Amino acid sequence: MDQCIFCKIARKELSSEIVFENEKIIAFRDVAPVAPTHILVIPKEHVESLNELEEKDYESMIPEIFLCIQELVTQQGLKEEGYRVVSNCGQNGGQTVGHLHFHLLGGRSMQWPPG
Ligand code: AMP
Repeated sequence: MDQCIFCKIARKELSSEIVFENEKIIAFRDVAPVAPTHILVIPKEHVESLNELEEKDYESMIPEIFLCIQELVTQQGLKEEGYRVVSNCGQNGGQTVGHLHFHLLGGRSMQWPPG
């Protein structure tokens, strides 16, 4: 997707602070963090949101994303104190970037319910 900002980050056309990368996944720090640790984990392949996932994605893409999150949790020292993983979907979910992403939030106590 030519104009998608997260595709541009994945292609390194837009700078970001990358904290993890492999063939399929890239993770980078959110430009407007809402927690001391705020990392976005995305598939390099463009998928609009959770709504567009296909059966095949549950076999490789989604496991890869959660393996990456697990690695980041250890890397960022969040395992003991806890953290939150969020994927906003569509208008009511508060999604502002149309490329599937998972927020990894940590370093402070989270509230429930979210706003
Ligand atoms: P969401 O609102 O769930 O779609 O999350 C999109 C997130 O992307 C927000 O937390 C933004 O701060 C973040 N964001 C937008 N542009 C960039 C960028 N160029 N680099 C890093 N994070 C970004």
